[in-house]
Amino acid sequence: MGCWRDLAQTERDGTIDLGDAIVLPGLVNAHCHLDYTDMAGQFPPPKIFSDWLKLITTAKGHWSKPDYATSWINGAQMLLRTGTTTVGDIEAMPDLLPEVWNLGGLRVMSFLEMIGITGRREPGEIVQEALGKIDSLRAGRCCAGLSPHAPYSTLPQLLTLSANAARQRGLRMCVHVAESRQEFEMFVHARGEMYDWLRRSTRDMSDCGLGSPVRASTALRSVGGESPGSTRKSRRPQAMQACLPNERFTLFTVRAVMNISATAAFRSDAS
Ligand SMILES: [Zn+2]
Repeated sequence: MGCWRDLAQTERDGTIDLGDAIVLPGLVNAHCHLDYTDMAGQFPPPKIFSDWLKLITTAKGHWSKPDYATSWINGAQMLLRTGTTTVGDIEAMPDLLPEVWNLGGLRVMSFLEMIGITGRREPGEIVQEALGKIDSLRAGRCCAGLSPHAPYSTLPQLLTLSANAARQRGLRMCVHVAESRQEFEMFVHARGEMYDWLRRSTRDMSDCGLGSPVRASTALRSVGGESPGSTRKSRRPQAMQACLPNERFTLFTVRAVMNISATAAFRSDAS
């Protein structure tokens, strides 16, 4: 297969009857967590989002690097089997790169996950570590970007530093925004299960009670915007949000996600 103009005349002349089949370009999964593939079905359905977060955090503590690698590969093979050839993947285990990139024909945009709520590690140090990893990777069919995990699981400075670095370097960035009702309660009203849990974890909660997580992310310029010096022709967004919710969205959330996803980073990647 290839572009029409690149195909030899002999290939153009032939006719192949595939029968009852559809030929279509490879599908794009804009948001995935391949390294968690093998966790599927391990947890009972949680009643609230923060309980699910605690379950997955505990499970991660028991996994080794080979566990993550096997899980990543299983997820990649699942995508390829079902017609997806391009994926935006959040990498909780950046050490798997670049080896896993070379294990199949998948085109991967790997977003290096950054989490930090206690300030025990300086946000600048966390971002620099991710940028150093990106610099060590040779971009080709696969390449890397940044993923400050979410407004609730990071400090505002980490979001701002990540967004600035992404804009300066022309990197793509992925942030989870407005995933759950608890996140809304935390940012809008400074209350609820997530608020109480993170406050007990010594997160600085002074960014709560000021507005929705979408508003908070926008204020920190971690969603939307364009690269400095971008022209009308080359404009492209720097952020996207696409993680599936495991709770009912409010209408406002759906609208917010649609607005952000409308500028999804993969707009120009399929070419
Ligand atoms: Zn996600």
